[in-house]
Amino acid sequence: VVSLSRDQVLAWLDEVYDPEVPVLSVVELGIVRDVVLGDEVVVVITPTYSGCPAMRVIEEDIVAALHSRGVPRARIETVYSPAWTTDWMSDGAKAKLESYGIAPPGRSADVGLVSLTRRSHEVVRCPHCRSLDTARKSEFGSTACKAIYACRSCLQPFELFKAI
Ligand SMILES: [Zn+2]
Repeated sequence: VVSLSRDQVLAWLDEVYDPEVPVLSVVELGIVRDVVLGDEVVVVITPTYSGCPAMRVIEEDIVAALHSRGVPRARIETVYSPAWTTDWMSDGAKAKLESYGIAPPGRSADVGLVSLTRRSHEVVRCPHCRSLDTARKSEFGSTACKAIYACRSCLQPFELFKAI
């Protein structure tokens, strides 16, 4: 543990994936806020959605990953403020989501405080064929953080990772 660096820990965490979005690591998702090195390794995280059942799994996976790298003492510290936003996802992470078939979130700043009219006209691009001719079918998909859309061009359904 003596030679352990913060960057090394972050590199290991970049191999821990979100069980609900298996193409994104916890680092790409933007939930890892800090890594504190001392007598133990403390990973500071901010949950994506409060009550998201995947968070418990993610916490266990992070500790297990550090144990497997020879870090005997590792723990999670959860910070709720400032709240996680999809804006913390990197552009690279959003591109990965789209190639995986999930429409990435738009900027939450664009949908948050702007008029509801604009929000309801949010244009979502089909991750399969890039068409903008899409329609929301359901507010909730496989998880609460996603909505179900249908593409009128290629007729394929897809999920949108909602901006928050
Ligand atoms: Zn399409």
